Amino acid sequence: MVRSSRSGTTCSEHRGDTPVRTCVGCKKRAPVGELLRVVALDRRLVADTRRRLPGRGAWLHPGPECLAKAERRRAFPRALRVHGTLDVAELREHLGQVTGKHGQGSVPGPDGTKEAGRPVMSQP
Ligand SMILES: [Zn+2]
Repeated sequence: MVRSSRSGTTCSEHRGDTPVRTCVGCKKRAPVGELLRVVALDRRLVADTRRRLPGRGAWLHPGPECLAKAERRRAFPRALRVHGTLDVAELREHLGQVTGKHGQGSVPGPDGTKEAGRPVMSQP
């Protein structure tokens, strides 16, 4: 792990109140209430919405962007200590149900997009 020059520990946030986890997609920290717990079952990634499945869990913002980022950097096998590939179809479907409020979701194409310099959608 490479640490940036910024100090890793922050005391500015309230401690003890809300547990905070790091999203495996965007690597930002967020209260567990805003994140989705993901576990591996039989080489499938499943959303542990009730947070009661045993084993290791990875935390992810419930959105397709963070899922795509996590997939791209293979964050799930690393976070879950699983060797090999994990099937994300079920998880992606779950996220589609959670976030698919706009009718049609524009799915980012196959890895043709650059990692940096992605056009940011301007939202009203
Ligand atoms: Zn995220």
